[in-house]
Amino acid sequence: MNEKILVIEDEEKISGIVKSYLEQEGFTATVAPTGGEALEMFKRGYDLIILDLMLPDMEGETVCNEIRHSSDVPIIMLTAKSSEDERVRGLGLGADDYVVKPFSPRELVARVKAHLRRGQRKEDRILSFNKGLLAINIPSMEVRSGKEVITLTKTEFNILLYLAQRPRTVITRLQIIHKVMGYEFEGYDRVIDAHIKNIRRKIEKNPQEPMFITTIYGVGYKFIGKPD
Ligand code: CA
Repeated sequence: MNEKILVIEDEEKISGIVKSYLEQEGFTATVAPTGGEALEMFKRGYDLIILDLMLPDMEGETVCNEIRHSSDVPIIMLTAKSSEDERVRGLGLGADDYVVKPFSPRELVARVKAHLRRGQRKEDRILSFNKGLLAINIPSMEVRSGKEVITLTKTEFNILLYLAQRPRTVITRLQIIHKVMGYEFEGYDRVIDAHIKNIRRKIEKNPQEPMFITTIYGVGYKFIGKPD
Protein backbone atom coordinates (compact mmCIF):
# COMPACT_ATOMS: atom_id res chain seq x y z
CA MET A 1 0.00 0.00 0.00
CA ASN A 2 2.51 2.58 1.21
CA GLU A 3 0.19 5.52 1.58
CA LYS A 4 1.77 8.86 0.77
CA ILE A 5 1.67 11.64 3.31
CA LEU A 6 2.68 15.26 2.74
CA VAL A 7 4.00 17.02 5.84
CA ILE A 8 3.82 20.80 5.44
CA GLU A 9 6.00 22.25 8.17
CA ASP A 10 8.95 24.66 8.15
CA GLU A 11 10.47 23.64 11.49
CA GLU A 12 12.93 20.92 10.49
CA LYS A 13 13.05 19.43 13.95
CA ILE A 14 9.30 18.82 13.97
CA SER A 15 8.99 17.71 10.36
CA GLY A 16 11.94 15.34 10.87
CA ILE A 17 10.33 13.67 13.87
CA VAL A 18 6.95 13.40 12.18
CA LYS A 19 8.52 11.99 9.01
CA SER A 20 10.49 9.35 10.87
CA TYR A 21 7.50 8.24 12.94
CA LEU A 22 5.39 7.95 9.80
CA GLU A 23 8.09 6.00 7.98
CA GLN A 24 8.46 3.61 10.91
CA GLU A 25 4.78 2.82 10.39
CA GLY A 26 5.33 2.09 6.72
CA PHE A 27 4.07 5.35 5.24
CA THR A 28 5.92 7.34 2.61
CA ALA A 29 6.38 10.82 4.04
CA THR A 30 7.48 13.90 2.12
CA VAL A 31 8.18 17.28 3.71
CA ALA A 32 7.25 20.63 2.20
CA PRO A 33 8.84 23.49 4.18
CA THR A 34 6.73 26.30 2.69
CA GLY A 35 3.13 26.81 1.60
CA GLY A 36 4.25 27.60 -1.93
CA GLU A 37 6.16 24.35 -2.29
CA ALA A 38 3.32 22.43 -0.65
CA LEU A 39 0.79 23.70 -3.19
CA GLU A 40 3.08 22.60 -6.03
CA MET A 41 3.83 19.21 -4.50
CA PHE A 42 0.26 18.49 -3.48
CA LYS A 43 -0.70 18.12 -7.15
CA ARG A 44 1.34 14.89 -7.30
CA GLY A 45 -1.35 13.26 -5.19
CA TYR A 46 -1.19 12.34 -1.53
CA ASP A 47 -3.37 10.18 0.68
CA LEU A 48 -3.24 12.56 3.64
CA ILE A 49 -1.83 15.98 4.46
CA ILE A 50 -0.40 17.22 7.75
CA LEU A 51 -0.43 20.99 7.70
CA ASP A 52 1.25 23.38 10.12
CA LEU A 53 -0.67 26.64 10.47
CA MET A 54 2.46 28.77 10.96
CA LEU A 55 4.40 28.79 7.72
CA PRO A 56 7.02 31.34 6.62
CA ASP A 57 5.43 32.39 3.33
CA MET A 58 1.69 32.10 3.85
CA GLU A 59 -0.94 31.24 6.41
CA GLY A 60 -1.67 27.56 6.81
CA GLU A 61 -5.34 28.48 6.49
CA THR A 62 -4.68 29.74 2.95
CA VAL A 63 -2.93 26.50 2.03
CA CYS A 64 -5.87 24.51 3.40
CA ASN A 65 -8.31 26.61 1.45
CA GLU A 66 -6.34 26.21 -1.79
CA ILE A 67 -6.12 22.43 -1.38
CA ARG A 68 -9.84 22.20 -0.69
CA HIS A 69 -10.63 23.91 -4.00
CA SER A 70 -9.57 20.77 -5.81
CA SER A 71 -9.32 17.91 -3.32
CA ASP A 72 -11.04 16.24 -0.39
CA VAL A 73 -7.82 14.60 0.84
CA PRO A 74 -7.83 14.30 4.66
CA ILE A 75 -6.04 17.28 6.25
CA ILE A 76 -4.77 17.27 9.82
CA MET A 77 -3.72 20.72 11.03
CA LEU A 78 -0.88 21.27 13.45
CA THR A 79 -1.61 24.32 15.48
CA ALA A 80 -0.20 26.27 18.38
CA LYS A 81 -3.47 28.12 18.42
CA SER A 82 -5.55 26.16 20.85
CA SER A 83 -8.42 28.54 21.42
CA GLU A 84 -11.83 27.25 20.51
CA ASP A 85 -12.26 29.95 17.86
CA GLU A 86 -9.09 28.97 16.04
CA ARG A 87 -9.98 25.30 16.05
CA VAL A 88 -13.43 25.96 14.74
CA ARG A 89 -11.95 28.18 12.06
CA GLY A 90 -9.58 25.41 11.00
CA LEU A 91 -12.35 22.85 10.77
CA GLY A 92 -14.55 25.39 9.02
CA LEU A 93 -11.85 25.84 6.39
CA GLY A 94 -12.11 22.18 5.61
CA ALA A 95 -9.47 20.56 7.80
CA ASP A 96 -10.56 17.16 9.08
CA ASP A 97 -8.76 17.32 12.39
CA TYR A 98 -6.22 19.33 14.33
CA VAL A 99 -3.44 18.51 16.75
CA VAL A 100 -2.29 21.18 19.18
CA LYS A 101 1.44 21.75 19.60
CA PRO A 102 3.35 20.47 21.46
CA PHE A 103 1.95 17.09 20.43
CA SER A 104 2.98 13.48 20.82
CA PRO A 105 4.15 12.01 17.49
CA ARG A 106 2.52 8.72 18.49
CA GLU A 107 -0.82 10.49 18.90
CA LEU A 108 -0.40 12.16 15.53
CA VAL A 109 0.36 8.84 13.83
CA ALA A 110 -2.72 7.31 15.49
CA ARG A 111 -4.85 10.11 14.06
CA VAL A 112 -3.29 9.66 10.63
CA LYS A 113 -4.23 5.98 10.69
CA ALA A 114 -7.76 6.73 11.88
CA HIS A 115 -8.31 9.20 9.04
CA LEU A 116 -6.91 6.86 6.43
CA ARG A 117 -9.17 4.07 7.70
CA ARG A 118 -12.14 6.41 7.45
CA GLY A 119 -11.15 7.20 3.89
CA GLN A 120 -11.14 3.50 3.06
CA ARG A 121 -14.48 3.00 4.70
CA LYS A 122 -15.91 5.59 2.33
CA GLU A 123 -15.11 3.14 -0.46
CA ASP A 124 -17.36 0.49 1.03
CA ARG A 125 -20.43 0.35 -1.14
CA ILE A 126 -22.96 -0.74 1.44
CA LEU A 127 -22.88 -0.08 5.15
CA SER A 128 -25.13 -2.50 6.99
CA PHE A 129 -26.11 -2.42 10.64
CA ASN A 130 -28.15 -4.43 13.14
CA LYS A 131 -28.55 -7.45 10.85
CA GLY A 132 -29.73 -5.41 7.92
CA LEU A 133 -32.22 -3.32 9.86
CA LEU A 134 -30.37 -0.38 8.42
CA ALA A 135 -28.44 -0.65 5.15
CA ILE A 136 -26.92 2.37 3.43
CA ASN A 137 -25.99 1.89 -0.20
CA ILE A 138 -23.54 4.69 -0.92
CA PRO A 139 -23.34 4.72 -4.74
CA SER A 140 -27.10 4.54 -5.19
CA MET A 141 -27.80 6.72 -2.11
CA GLU A 142 -30.44 4.21 -1.15
CA VAL A 143 -31.33 3.35 2.44
CA ARG A 144 -33.18 0.19 3.38
CA SER A 145 -34.59 -1.37 6.46
CA GLY A 146 -34.69 -5.04 5.61
CA LYS A 147 -36.45 -5.06 2.24
CA GLU A 148 -38.22 -1.77 2.78
CA VAL A 149 -36.75 1.26 0.99
CA ILE A 150 -36.56 4.36 3.17
CA THR A 151 -36.83 7.69 1.41
CA LEU A 152 -34.47 10.32 2.76
CA THR A 153 -33.75 13.78 1.40
CA LYS A 154 -30.21 14.35 0.14
CA THR A 155 -29.30 16.26 3.30
CA GLU A 156 -30.78 13.58 5.54
CA PHE A 157 -28.87 10.92 3.61
CA ASN A 158 -25.61 12.84 3.91
CA ILE A 159 -26.05 13.41 7.64
CA LEU A 160 -26.89 9.76 8.24
CA LEU A 161 -23.92 8.62 6.16
CA TYR A 162 -21.56 11.01 7.94
CA LEU A 163 -22.65 9.64 11.32
CA ALA A 164 -22.70 5.99 10.21
CA GLN A 165 -19.14 6.26 8.87
CA ARG A 166 -18.02 7.37 12.33
CA PRO A 167 -19.63 4.84 14.66
CA ARG A 168 -19.30 5.35 18.41
CA THR A 169 -17.88 8.84 17.84
CA VAL A 170 -19.55 11.91 19.28
CA ILE A 171 -20.29 14.31 16.45
CA THR A 172 -21.15 17.92 17.29
CA ARG A 173 -23.85 19.86 15.50
CA LEU A 174 -21.15 22.22 14.34
CA GLN A 175 -19.26 19.33 12.71
CA ILE A 176 -22.39 18.32 10.88
CA ILE A 177 -22.93 21.90 9.74
CA HIS A 178 -19.34 22.21 8.50
CA LYS A 179 -18.83 18.77 7.05
CA VAL A 180 -22.21 17.89 5.66
CA MET A 181 -23.98 21.15 4.98
CA GLY A 182 -20.78 22.92 3.86
CA TYR A 183 -19.20 25.69 5.84
CA GLU A 184 -20.96 28.40 3.88
CA PHE A 185 -24.15 27.13 5.42
CA GLU A 186 -25.36 29.77 7.84
CA GLY A 187 -27.65 27.56 9.81
CA TYR A 188 -28.46 27.09 13.40
CA ASP A 189 -28.05 24.04 15.59
CA ARG A 190 -31.81 23.64 15.61
CA VAL A 191 -31.76 22.96 11.88
CA ILE A 192 -29.56 19.93 12.51
CA ASP A 193 -31.86 18.77 15.31
CA ALA A 194 -34.80 18.96 12.92
CA HIS A 195 -32.97 16.86 10.33
CA ILE A 196 -32.02 14.28 12.96
CA LYS A 197 -35.61 14.12 14.10
CA ASN A 198 -36.73 13.40 10.54
CA ILE A 199 -34.04 10.77 10.03
CA ARG A 200 -35.04 9.04 13.28
CA ARG A 201 -38.68 9.06 12.34
CA LYS A 202 -37.74 7.22 9.16
CA ILE A 203 -35.08 4.76 10.34
CA GLU A 204 -35.84 4.07 13.99
CA LYS A 205 -38.55 1.64 15.09
CA ASN A 206 -39.07 3.74 18.18
CA PRO A 207 -37.57 7.23 17.85
CA GLN A 208 -37.86 7.64 21.63
CA GLU A 209 -35.43 4.76 22.11
CA PRO A 210 -33.12 5.04 19.13
CA MET A 211 -31.06 2.05 17.99
CA PHE A 212 -28.99 4.06 15.54
CA ILE A 213 -28.61 7.73 16.39
CA THR A 214 -28.42 8.65 20.04
CA THR A 215 -28.34 12.18 21.48
CA ILE A 216 -25.39 13.24 23.60
CA TYR A 217 -26.96 16.03 25.58
CA GLY A 218 -25.29 19.39 25.26
CA VAL A 219 -22.83 18.06 22.67
CA GLY A 220 -24.37 16.40 19.64
CA TYR A 221 -25.05 12.94 18.31
CA LYS A 222 -23.50 9.51 18.17
CA PHE A 223 -24.12 6.63 15.79
CA ILE A 224 -24.60 3.42 17.79
CA GLY A 225 -25.73 0.90 15.16
CA LYS A 226 -23.84 -2.41 15.25
CA PRO A 227 -22.01 -3.08 11.98
CA ASP A 228 -22.91 -6.41 10.32
CA1 CA B 1 5.80 26.27 11.57
